[in-house]
Amino acid sequence: MDIQNTIQTLRDELNQHNYNYYVLDNPMISDFDFDLKLKQLQELENNNPEYFDENSPTQRVGGAITKNFETVPHEYRMYSLDNSYSKEELADWEKRVQKNLGDVPLEYFCELKYDGASISITYENGKLKRAVTRGDGFQGDDVTNNIKTIKSIPLQLKGNYPDKFDVRGEIILPFAGFEKMNQELIEIGETPYSNPRNTASGSLKLQDSSEVAKRPLDCLLYFIIGNNLPFDSQQQGLETARNWGFKAPTQAKLVRNLEEVYDFIDYWDVHRHQLPYETDGVVIKVNNFHHQQELGFTAKSPRWAIAYKFKSEQVSTRLNSISYQVGRTGAITPVANLEPVQLAGTIVKRASLHNADQIEKLGICVGDTVFVEKGGEIIPKIIAVDLTKRPEHSIPTTYITHCPECQTVLVRNEGEANHYCPNFYGCPPQIIGRIQHYISRKAMDIEGLGGETVALLFNNGLVHNYADLYELKVEQIRHLERMAQKSADNLVKGVANSKNIPFERVLYALGIRFVGETIAKKLAKHYKNIDVLCQASFTELVLVDEIGERIAKSVIEFFENQENRIIIERLKEYGIQFETVENINPNATNILIGKTFVVSGVFEQFSRDDLKMKIEENGGKVGNSISAKTDYVLAGINMGPAKLEKAVKLNIPIISETDFIQLINEN
Ligand code: AMP
Ligand code: ZN
Repeated sequence: MDIQNTIQTLRDELNQHNYNYYVLDNPMISDFDFDLKLKQLQELENNNPEYFDENSPTQRVGGAITKNFETVPHEYRMYSLDNSYSKEELADWEKRVQKNLGDVPLEYFCELKYDGASISITYENGKLKRAVTRGDGFQGDDVTNNIKTIKSIPLQLKGNYPDKFDVRGEIILPFAGFEKMNQELIEIGETPYSNPRNTASGSLKLQDSSEVAKRPLDCLLYFIIGNNLPFDSQQQGLETARNWGFKAPTQAKLVRNLEEVYDFIDYWDVHRHQLPYETDGVVIKVNNFHHQQELGFTAKSPRWAIAYKFKSEQVSTRLNSISYQVGRTGAITPVANLEPVQLAGTIVKRASLHNADQIEKLGICVGDTVFVEKGGEIIPKIIAVDLTKRPEHSIPTTYITHCPECQTVLVRNEGEANHYCPNFYGCPPQIIGRIQHYISRKAMDIEGLGGETVALLFNNGLVHNYADLYELKVEQIRHLERMAQKSADNLVKGVANSKNIPFERVLYALGIRFVGETIAKKLAKHYKNIDVLCQASFTELVLVDEIGERIAKSVIEFFENQENRIIIERLKEYGIQFETVENINPNATNILIGKTFVVSGVFEQFSRDDLKMKIEENGGKVGNSISAKTDYVLAGINMGPAKLEKAVKLNIPIISETDFIQLINEN
């Protein structure tokens, strides 16, 4: 097969696998195999630039930077939808429709109303041409580079499609992905995003498309528009779009009268809480395109469609007290402790109050009856106070002035919403949080030591900072609660092993505010050595790729601090890596970083030890037994049946020696 054919075959295969995974939610290949194919394709494309294709699956990783998004007109205007809030309003709408159409039998297509940002995407000859935000409905911003990174959006269509048409869909951020993004922000001391909808819509306008590629965005299709479309109803349109490769949610339903519309609404008003993403209503569309055409549009919306908005479920309950939590970076979060109450299928006991401004805005007092609502976030929020129920003599809330954990006077920086406890080195939750971050998987990945044990060690006076971990002796810890000889041995061994962790991860582990994994990598790559980094000035730092003023300031503050310097000196003495090691081994790569392998059976080309060495050389880890932490089982001949059974049960991909060698050699 010639190169061009190989490239095309790989592209088709990868497109199909993306489709299986992101649209059908039914992967047919392991991530490892997928990465392997993608790397193969990337390499072929690099070596044969004449076959470059802007719609190749390799382009999904992004990288294009857009400083100013170009404003472009929509070929077909993007209308808004009229809203309704009651069944009576829907009945009025139906009357208007019937009056316009004469008494013809009608079919309605009911869809959920997805809560995100709308997008219009133009396809030409089956290829994604351009993606534009809604803007004012007449023109929007060209965000094509960002949209291409969303894996459920096809870059190349399948089957028979018209030459040119637009699709309309909603860009959303599913709850799980949103929570994960927030978890990562909290880890580096950033403020988490407030809700999935705003985060999704903000993502479309990020300048660096590789940042968009990292966000778990999704696109749900709800409309196709163009000339000579091969269908004449909304239902057929979505069905056809699915065959072309789009994700159009299957909850949508064709119904024949308003009663059935009401049933659809009632059903989803309850069951929408089980969907993986946020919905805020139902959209009812007259199904037949000829009817739609006859009905036409008002100045701002189609007459043939209407949105029904769900009432967000609210309950009222009593505010028993307000407590204040101190995070790893010292940020204070006020939390409302509520009289437990049932809301949208769960019992709610607590709600976030965000910050002092929010408390003031609500004018909330302990003892108040408050309205609680579940929005896009998992944590419920307090909407308002029921002033009619306020007890006499209730006392206005005054925000705390001192840290509840260490009694230090709190500070609030100009322009920031949160108060901070500045006692960075003496405030227990800050100390514990910093050590927990240091040992975490993406940082020093210390095996045998977990978050609770860190708290235990701190509370027993054994560690005050992460450098102290390296002084721990088995005798000191084996008698602690929930500890034993073996777990104590493992802990000390795990700590010692962290001396092999490369500089970029050490830098991340230090817990410098705003220095996440990516920034740590950039800094390590640029400065190569902690001593050089320590001396970098503000002007130098901001010149480094992706380092802005806020990060630069934070880095400087960190290294100016005497205590940090002492800790770093100590870590150096213990042998922690504070330099980028140039690869002395030409075979070594990072491709297996974060992956744990279990090697089992007899192999043909290499010995088992050789294979283990290759895993480690490439950044992976070798585990002894199969567990939920195993990422891959590298299986030879005669792998034990018990092991095989366990791997299958835990759904761990099993790869052959040939697969493995192929991947390693590619790099
Ligand atoms: P509004 O923003 O309230 O005018 O509502 C109109 C918006 O709802 C559209 O621009 C779409 O972004 C969004 N929407 C969400 N789901 C659907 C759907 N199933 N059909 C049509 N529009 C939808
Ligand atoms: Zn404190």
